[in-house]
Amino acid sequence: MTLSQIRHWVFDMDGTLTVAVHDFAAIRVALDIPAQDDILSHLAALPAEEAAAKHAWLLEHERDLALGSRPAPGAVALVRELAGRGCRLAILTRNARELAHVTLQAIGIADCFEHEHVLGRDDAEPKPSPEGLLKIAQAWAVAPHEMVMVGDYLNDLDCGRAAGARTVLVNLPDNPWPQLTDWHAADCRALQALLSQ
Ligand SMILES: [Mg+2]
Repeated sequence: MTLSQIRHWVFDMDGTLTVAVHDFAAIRVALDIPAQDDILSHLAALPAEEAAAKHAWLLEHERDLALGSRPAPGAVALVRELAGRGCRLAILTRNARELAHVTLQAIGIADCFEHEHVLGRDDAEPKPSPEGLLKIAQAWAVAPHEMVMVGDYLNDLDCGRAAGARTVLVNLPDNPWPQLTDWHAADCRALQALLSQ
């Protein structure tokens, strides 16, 4: 199967469609989270009151980032081409859903995604869990292997594999995870070029 035959595309957002701006090390310091811990898993294990306060801090921090989002090179043209080809498009992000909408507006591609197919961290167990991807598959009534999960990090690839979807790694010059990757493109421009092969 070639990429151009795939009609169902799910994108990670931060660092995939946008230029990565999250400073996860600084977030861990601000929220007193050990360097090796996953931020969302750490917050989920805290007492309710502390978790709520830290989630609120994170949301405010991420809101500022969302408002200033810039598109990753080639991301807007890629998404517009896929939308123009009639592909179905979704977002699966570990960011908050409302901030995903803010971000998509900021980079000018919000109209390419159906509102209910933008899933954030409160809509499903966060990646690498396949739950969100499987929800989208169900909403679209397609088998997971007919979908592709596009992302810039290991979580995205693990999520795609666990769901039984195909995977694309973008925005890294080299691929550290070839066994988890069906296609690799250095950026969204290169990924768009793969559509015409
Ligand atoms: Mg990402």
